[in-house]
Amino acid sequence: MIRLYNTLTRQEEEFRPLHEGKVSLYTCGPTVYWFAHIGNMRAFLFADILRRTLEVNGYEVKMVMNITDVGHLTSDMDEGEDKMIVAMQREGKTAREIAQVYTDAFLADVDRLNIKRANLYPKATEHIPEQIEMIQSLEKNGFTYRTSDGIYFDTSKLDSYGRLSGQKGEEKLAGARVGMGEKRYATDFALWKFSPAHSTREMQWNSPWGIGFPGWHIECSAMSMKYLDVPFDIHTGGVDHIAVHHENEIAQTQGAEGVLEANLWMHSEFLTVDQGKMSKSLGNLYTVADLIERGYDPLAYRYLVLGAHYRSKLNFTFEALDAAHNALTKLRETIRDWDEPDIGCAELEEKFFASLNDDLNTPQALAVLWELVNADLPTGAKAESLLKMDRVLGLRLKTVLGQALDVPQDVQRLVDERETARGNKDWKRSDELRVAVEALGYLVEDTAQGPHIKKHSPTVVK
Ligand code: AMP
Ligand code: ZN
Repeated sequence: MIRLYNTLTRQEEEFRPLHEGKVSLYTCGPTVYWFAHIGNMRAFLFADILRRTLEVNGYEVKMVMNITDVGHLTSDMDEGEDKMIVAMQREGKTAREIAQVYTDAFLADVDRLNIKRANLYPKATEHIPEQIEMIQSLEKNGFTYRTSDGIYFDTSKLDSYGRLSGQKGEEKLAGARVGMGEKRYATDFALWKFSPAHSTREMQWNSPWGIGFPGWHIECSAMSMKYLDVPFDIHTGGVDHIAVHHENEIAQTQGAEGVLEANLWMHSEFLTVDQGKMSKSLGNLYTVADLIERGYDPLAYRYLVLGAHYRSKLNFTFEALDAAHNALTKLRETIRDWDEPDIGCAELEEKFFASLNDDLNTPQALAVLWELVNADLPTGAKAESLLKMDRVLGLRLKTVLGQALDVPQDVQRLVDERETARGNKDWKRSDELRVAVEALGYLVEDTAQGPHIKKHSPTVVK
């Protein structure tokens, strides 16, 4: 039995899929106007842990993640410029080129963090007719009105509006009537925005209402319906999606199709830096590439994220990343000389999967992993259970398990020389040689059986 927290009902629920043995999962994907930062990647790591947990429970998961390449304005409230256009101006490229560069960069990060790829990555710009069709349904059902700059959703017409965030429109946006333009109601939102007259902008399309482009929210309602059918099982995103983006997605699907878009709504908390927001202007925004440049293995970041529950804020510091890096290195070194997987330890496996099935309690699952590593059991048994656990943790432990170190010749020579120095009680030389071995990325430990060579975590450059 899997229990998951549903933002919609504000409680943990036993998960029951709509179709036996199958799960339909939609995750709001990146806006491809810039590199995804490690905070964004936390949201995608969360969705990956969810997906892998469902899979080890025997479900066949169909996962769809949209690529937002039009319509997401610099403010989530239908104001400002399209983020893609800002990027075009910044980089002197076409919108299509920008989208390609940052989609590729995103997928590279997905692979580096060992996030399983979604089954489909539909792009907003490739689903304009579907979005137009949905707006037409909303129009037919009486949920839209026209202003001089677009077609808007009238939130006052939908009784259930506000059910996700638990606030009615008036409460939510009390006093926020400034900057409303011609909107009738503060929570109303754009479905279609008109291009200014004679605009030559690249991203504009014909529609029954005039030339323009879709609002940000309609792509997810239209594409989730196309690829998963509605209602589907689970919809995920970051907590910042709750109040506006997901509330509006729900409203659109409800208004157009008369059904709830998804049964279960799950949201991951933010990654903060220095307890605050990550931002380029503060110089504290990091990408996966930045971490690699500083000498970290991207999987150390995955380990760090696993160490916090997805519904808790996680404060990023390099000290915390160092600790995750060291723990992962220690784990890899410990399992390097383990025996071939044999019959596993059922008790610890059960405890591990029970933690995950309890609303994805990854910190507890990691603690069980270490309990296994330190248990007084044959290493073959531990290896078997470890690999099962790693199907969800995704730390690529199989690549090191039982892989005795292939020590380079120059390192081995230094270690041999050090042994000679030790034999001669030349401690000064012995210490120098230890430092030389470390500089090559290895550690030497003196055991009763002789020197034991281990891989050293790369020196972290800050
Ligand atoms: P975007 O590319 O802006 O559409 O965001 C992609 C995902 O990252 C969304 O699920 C956001 O909720 C999430 N997100 C944005 N900032 C952060 C952050 N600092 N920590 C965690 N998730 C974030
Ligand atoms: Zn979305």
